[in-house]
Amino acid sequence: VDLPIHEAVLGRAAEFGDAPALVDGVDGTTLTYDQLDRFHRRMAAGLAEAGVGKGDVLALHSPNTIAFPTAFYAATRAGATVTTVHPLATAEEFAGQLRDSGADWIVTVSPLLEAAREAAERAGGVREILVCDSAPGHRSLIDMLASAAPEPEIDIDPAEDVAALPYSSGTTGVPKGVMLTHRSIATNLEQLAQCVSVAPGDRILAVLPFFHIYGLTALMNMPLKQGATVIVLPRFDLDTFLAAIEKHRITGLFVAPPIVLALAKHPAVANHDLSSLKYLISSAAPLDAALAAACSKRLGLPPVGQAYGMTELSPGTHIVPLDDMGTAPPGTVGRLLPNTEMRILSLDDPDPDADADADDGAAGEIAIRGPQVMKGYLKNPDATAAMIDADGWLHTGDVGRVDADGWLFVVDRVKELIKYKGFQVAPAELEALLLTHPGIADAAVIGVYNEDNNEVPHAYVVRQPSATDLSEGEVMMYVAERVAPYKRVRHVTFVDGVPRAASGKILRRQLREPREKT
Ligand code: ATP
Ligand code: MG
Repeated sequence: VDLPIHEAVLGRAAEFGDAPALVDGVDGTTLTYDQLDRFHRRMAAGLAEAGVGKGDVLALHSPNTIAFPTAFYAATRAGATVTTVHPLATAEEFAGQLRDSGADWIVTVSPLLEAAREAAERAGGVREILVCDSAPGHRSLIDMLASAAPEPEIDIDPAEDVAALPYSSGTTGVPKGVMLTHRSIATNLEQLAQCVSVAPGDRILAVLPFFHIYGLTALMNMPLKQGATVIVLPRFDLDTFLAAIEKHRITGLFVAPPIVLALAKHPAVANHDLSSLKYLISSAAPLDAALAAACSKRLGLPPVGQAYGMTELSPGTHIVPLDDMGTAPPGTVGRLLPNTEMRILSLDDPDPDADADADDGAAGEIAIRGPQVMKGYLKNPDATAAMIDADGWLHTGDVGRVDADGWLFVVDRVKELIKYKGFQVAPAELEALLLTHPGIADAAVIGVYNEDNNEVPHAYVVRQPSATDLSEGEVMMYVAERVAPYKRVRHVTFVDGVPRAASGKILRRQLREPREKT
């Protein structure tokens, strides 16, 4: 697709006209497609007038609001590369991203202004802080709607110019800035559209953050391209979320596994009429088949579908097409998108550079080639070269296997597999099993070294409020009765919560860190 992202997404906005594009899930404020189209053009004019130009990096620092997409498309139309920032980032984290990305501009919202000021001060190099709403002394994007400045005519090369610079979740290390061109993002939307027909009249709930590539794609670009209505919530809170589904007659949910868990297990779910829902798709982290089945059964929905991807892949490579949700095998993350190639590389190849294929049906590292592969990590050619080989294959670092019908199953990350006496144990498998215990509300598993220098599974377990007497021995026994001996959990720690990234991933690194320091 050779269009700038704002044109690829908003190309049909005029046609959708008065249909609601975005609705504030809390106060009901609505933006029509016509407004979205006109407003982002006026804001682009205002940004250009303020000095934003081609190649500038603009940090968009905002929770989900109905103004977020308008600001995003205005910035790309003005020629900027948008780097999206976690609204709750600490000043140091935010400053790090500003420095790393070389940000010239910040667009924030008035309640977060202090954090933005502090980050800009620490980082240096930011020319101006603007706000989406209004704040004394700061240029406001809302005020730009009255701007008489001409719409900027920026010459954008979709294949080369970087539209978005999202940062990876930081699950395995420091988040990395990922350069995604207009073409890679727009092409991925086309690929996804062939499998998921979001359409006018559909009502999508945007509860995962727009700043992460999953939300940016599934909850913003995709539904707005197709003329659906996006109901926006600023954060996940189960009661507000359930009430919004009921009130706004939500038809489609794109969520992460912790929300599937809540929908499957939380008593509050029974108090709401969720009958408008037609499908539920989960992505961003491993989802257990039994949990998915419990969730869809409870909600009376077709089986939960999954999608797989990563920031570096714009982000999608696999999805369960809506038409196949009833028949896809449980646990699959989907089929390969069109115009995308995949290999499963052997994990026990003596020469890692030789890249031998794994045996048919066997698990191995997933490698991907296609138009959605990132341009590279920002200012980090070594990391880029370590991930994308000379033939254009991106090595995902994830372990997967493909069945005879082409369905992909993701096992876990290569680096997080626990190696016990020559066997490999996937933490995700043990986490899923632990969650089937009625006394367990949440769980995370990491590998730790035993006295005899073997790596063994250590479980961090959150008890259900009703199961305060659940013991370590009971947890270990529960697992031991259900898995091969080499997979047994050898240590259990009870905790109040499992650390997770905004995208829903378990931050196993944080569980590991305190040990490494001691
Ligand atoms: P970092 O790269 O900074 O360590 P991250 O890999 O978590 O963080 P993202 O790009 O947000 O950053 O996440 C991509 C990863 O999410 C994939 O590599 C994969 O491990 C995981 N993932 C995505 N979808 C699924 C899925 N359906 N099932 C299992 N894992 C998934
Ligand atoms: Mg990653």
